Amino acid sequence: MIEKEFDIVIIGSGAGGGAVAKELSPLCKEGVKIAVLEWGPKFKETDFTGQELEMANKLYFDGGGFLTRDKSMTFAFAKAYGGSTVVYTGTSLTIPRETVSRWGVPGLEWEDIKRRSQKYLQENNVHLLEEDHLNDNNKLFYRACRNLNYKVEQFPINVRDCQGSGMCNLGCPNAAKQGTHRVQLPAAEKNGVIVVTNCKVNRIQDRVCYATVSNPGVGYPSVWEPGEYRVKAKMVVAAAGAVNTPALLFRSHLPTRLPALGRYFTCHPAFILVAQHSKPITNYWGHPKSYYCDHFVESKKFLLETCMYFPFTTAKNLAGFGQEHSRMVSRMDTLQMILVLALDPALPENRVTIDREGNPVVEYRLTEPVLDSLFESIKVCARIFFAAGAERVHAPAGKKFFVESSEQDNLDELIVREELKVGKVSITTAHLMGGCRMGEDLATSVTDVWGQVHGVPWLFVADASLFPQCAEINPYITIMALADRVAERVKSRLASL
Ligand SMILES: Cc1cc2nc3c(=O)[nH]c(=O)nc-3n(C[C@H](O)[C@H](O)[C@H](O)COP(=O)(O)OP(=O)(O)OC[C@H]3O[C@@H](n4cnc5c(N)ncnc54)[C@H](O)[C@@H]3O)c2cc1C
Ligand code: SF4
Repeated sequence: MIEKEFDIVIIGSGAGGGAVAKELSPLCKEGVKIAVLEWGPKFKETDFTGQELEMANKLYFDGGGFLTRDKSMTFAFAKAYGGSTVVYTGTSLTIPRETVSRWGVPGLEWEDIKRRSQKYLQENNVHLLEEDHLNDNNKLFYRACRNLNYKVEQFPINVRDCQGSGMCNLGCPNAAKQGTHRVQLPAAEKNGVIVVTNCKVNRIQDRVCYATVSNPGVGYPSVWEPGEYRVKAKMVVAAAGAVNTPALLFRSHLPTRLPALGRYFTCHPAFILVAQHSKPITNYWGHPKSYYCDHFVESKKFLLETCMYFPFTTAKNLAGFGQEHSRMVSRMDTLQMILVLALDPALPENRVTIDREGNPVVEYRLTEPVLDSLFESIKVCARIFFAAGAERVHAPAGKKFFVESSEQDNLDELIVREELKVGKVSITTAHLMGGCRMGEDLATSVTDVWGQVHGVPWLFVADASLFPQCAEINPYITIMALADRVAERVKSRLASL
């Protein structure tokens, strides 16, 4: 066992871990030793080939298809220097005031989150793309929502010199998208933080992280030799993501009981809806995600976003198979897509746990209200697609594979709730939240409002697992803002040691 010693160890280098590392890094100049231990590799620029299946397997846990225990949903989250920010689309929203009020965490103010979010919006070069960067897939959605009087907004995006290749979720091959791998981690390293890649933390015990460094043969080798490590730290910040942080804490021997650990997990259960136009539309060039519609957030608990997924992902998301399926997928150049995200409640029974080997297992039940929201969204999206001029719409809860435009007045008869069956519809998500939620009460939360694990003054959480309920928007800016708070508290705690 190789011994190492630091003042602060951060586990994970994604949205949360990267932000904490950068915030704490000025301390290195005062002699504070800080390490980030990251399970995934640091990819070389030439590794981003844009090949769908190759990149999915390289970048994502379980190739992007991590299954819930009942196999009703798949999760996408990445394992890399930069975590899921390497594969995110880069939409950068500040959490609404109403959502933070709904969270109702004493001591957590929207003004504080907004102020900190502002910093990351600037750091990540967030801005609105110009009109000529927007493709038909996006513009059709915008115009249709406007015609239907649905509230629709343009997404601010965090890119520099975006080439519009549409590969964001396979890792940007043009170094345009800003994630912690491009912004926060390099800044932290410049200040003296050591980032150890290919380093999986197996457990934490008595301020020691037990970790394994390997050589997976992709990207750059780790700065540490392969082997088993015992890494001592005065303070530990767990930022391994909403699936892996609760799993890591379950595997660890902590000097306290945490009844809420792993619980209240939420994930914005999502699906892709697809329509076909009679003529090709521009859908592959340009940034894939330009608009969102939050018109139905309060009334029907879903959010709509433009999207354009790759052929394999699209094919697996259609409900059905055979000739109609093939007919649709073979004409990708005519397809318009919308991503639906349901706003799911935080329930104690929806939780992360571990199996006998210590691997994460997610027990998540799609409740009837969530399925109702998804069902309602199909009809709304069909209206948007037809208002955009689509010839036919594929409705996963349709009585038939396609609803033709000539049938658009009969949506209530053709799209029916009984057809929305778990298992038939491909439900997937990339917004994983909760499991170490913030709060005051030990029975319903894992950390305090500054991310400190209840009863363990040297252990903090700084990732999406802190969310007490779902974010109701794309979450990464809020994760960075919360991580920023955690860094502030870690700094003051270290000073008092
Ligand atoms: C395809 C996709 C598109 C998305 N698009 C957007 C978007 O446009 N806008 C937005 O706001 N959000 C988006 N998201 C969500 C956003 O990327 C995540 O919410 C965010 O990155 C989560 O941050 P995190 O710090 O919780 O975890 P992550 O960013 O996932 O980082 C966790 C890191 O911890 C590492 N780790 C895990 N276990 C261990 C261990 N035991 N030891 C060491 N390291 C470990 C992992 O390898 C990983 O690198 C997207 C996500 C995906 C997958
Ligand atoms: S669309 Fe822009 S940000 Fe996305 S992969 Fe292409 S160049 Fe990168």
